[in-house]
Amino acid sequence: MNVIYVDNNATTQVSPEVLEEMLPYFNEFYGNPSSMHSFGGTVEHKIAEARARIASLLGASAEEIIFTSCGTESDSTAIRAAILSNSDKKHILTSRVEHPAVKNHYEYLSKNGYRVTFVPVDRKGRLDLDYLYKNLSDDTALVSIMWANNESGVIFPIEEISKVVREKGIVFHTDAVQAVGKIPIDLKTMDVDMLSISGHKLHGPKGVGALYVRRGTKYTPFMIGGHQEKGRRGGTENVASLIGLGKAAELAAAHLSDNNNPVKQLRDKLESEILKRVPNTIINGDRNNRLPNTTSIAFEYVEGESILLMMDEFGICASSGSACTSGSLEPSHVLRAMGVPFTAAHGSIRFSLSKYNTEQEIDFIIEKLPPIIERLRELSPFWKNIK
Ligand code: PLP
Repeated sequence: MNVIYVDNNATTQVSPEVLEEMLPYFNEFYGNPSSMHSFGGTVEHKIAEARARIASLLGASAEEIIFTSCGTESDSTAIRAAILSNSDKKHILTSRVEHPAVKNHYEYLSKNGYRVTFVPVDRKGRLDLDYLYKNLSDDTALVSIMWANNESGVIFPIEEISKVVREKGIVFHTDAVQAVGKIPIDLKTMDVDMLSISGHKLHGPKGVGALYVRRGTKYTPFMIGGHQEKGRRGGTENVASLIGLGKAAELAAAHLSDNNNPVKQLRDKLESEILKRVPNTIINGDRNNRLPNTTSIAFEYVEGESILLMMDEFGICASSGSACTSGSLEPSHVLRAMGVPFTAAHGSIRFSLSKYNTEQEIDFIIEKLPPIIERLRELSPFWKNIK
């Protein structure tokens, strides 16, 4: 059975070009980039190229890029750097819809001496900017707001927020794990101090990430150890993977320059056909301001997990909007923060496409999904009541 993979916000296929570029660095050029000999020097040279490629995708300079082990480490490093470098300040702010990599770190800090503000979102997943700005104070050490949400795909106005935050002299970090490689980003024109990336979300390998730290930003390392990354992140480099991330960044840059975005066209087709064919279906999130590859669709009065299982029989891989908490399925914190009604949140499915999806695959989903929903609704007591 063919796999139809539309779960690219969870992880992506490593591009063949990325894999090809990585392979020699396992058993051919396996030197340590810190070694004095030229065998290690070759590797160091290649790492410099990877760093420059990532910098170029972001509109940054190479010295502003620090390699890490994943998006989560990048987020943790940024949060720690900001609070340790501003240790006299005890207030931090974020949104209610962050990935656990930021959300859980903030919750941990709320139990360890910090006053934390979680900014709400509206029904369309848009941030309450007035609330955000009203809560900034002289005591605020850090504002961390994601660039784009992993579930709804909603994009936040990072340019505006970073400007306001910078004017108040507060450090601004953005978790751009879902945005990088999907939408253009140019940090040259922005007031972002730190930005997180993860390799496996843009057709690079898992277990590698990067953190952009604007030149001049006060910084304290999270991984304290050797002199790697100019002392900003200790530990021998995951050489092959960071070379892979560099290649993925280069490929993403080329792909982003295509204005006639084929991924968006396929996403729009999937979304509009499903809305047309399946009654009581709602799009979660601001349709005018989303990642081009993402749609979160709520099928009222059915269980998302049942939809996933039935799609899985056809090889269709997507995600639901629920998380398993203490043995029961709860709508995710993102859908709850958006106020999606219980009957819709439970039946929410996220489809996230990539450049590797084809029109035939989308047509296949459009053909198979409506009868699945119909069958499940026939079994639903709630559906019978509203019909
Ligand atoms: N931030 C966001 C928005 C994400 O979607 C993810 C992964 O799903 C992460 C952070 C964590 O990245 P990693 O899996 O590389 O730790």
